[in-house]
Amino acid sequence: MADRIGRREGDARCELVHAAQLPEVHSDHAGVALAEVNEAYTTQTCTECDALSGPHGREGLAVRQWVCSDCGAVHDRDRNAALNIARLGCETLGLKGPGSRVL
Ligand SMILES: [Zn+2]
Repeated sequence: MADRIGRREGDARCELVHAAQLPEVHSDHAGVALAEVNEAYTTQTCTECDALSGPHGREGLAVRQWVCSDCGAVHDRDRNAALNIARLGCETLGLKGPGSRVL
C-alpha cells in the first residue's frame, strides 16, 4: 500500500513553487528565455531615437498617442512601451531582438 502511494506521488510530478517563481517555471517548460527588466521610462522613451520625449507626469497618463519632439515619430503609448520593454529584455539576454534565438 505504501509503495503504491509512493509511486502515485512520484508520477504526479507536482512542483510547489512560490508565486514569484511562476513566470520562470512557465518559461522553463515552454523553452523560452526570461529576463526581468526595469520598465521605468519605457513609456516616455521614443523607440526611434531614444529621446525622453514622451508624456510626463500625472497629466501624461491620459495621453494615448504622442509625437516625439526630437524625431517626429508618432507613437501609440502602449505599443511604444512594449517595444522598449522587449528591446531591454533582449539586451539583457544578449539577443539581437525579439524572436532571435539564444545560442
Ligand atoms: Zn524620437
